[in-house]
Amino acid sequence: MIKKLLLKSLISNGGKIMEKYECLVCGYIYDPTIGDEKGGVSANTSFNNLPETWVCPECGAEKTLFEKLEEETQQDEEELTE
Ligand SMILES: [Zn+2]
Repeated sequence: MIKKLLLKSLISNGGKIMEKYECLVCGYIYDPTIGDEKGGVSANTSFNNLPETWVCPECGAEKTLFEKLEEETQQDEEELTE
C-alpha cells in the first residue's frame, strides 16, 4: 500500500515539473527538463521554482512575461467547429 502511494505522488510531481513556459517577447521556451544552463538553473527545475530574479536568457524578459504552454486538445475542438 505504501509503495503504491509513493509511486503515485512521484508521477504527479513529475507531471507538474514538465510544464513548459514560453517567453511572450522572443518566443524562447523554458523547458524544465533542460533548465537554463546560461542562467545557472539546473535541469528538472519547474518554472515556478525559478528565482524571482531569473530572466529570459534570450531577451532578458521577466518571469511575468512568460505564459504556460498548453499542450492539450483544445485546438482540435476549435478545428472541428470550422
Ligand atoms: Zn525572451
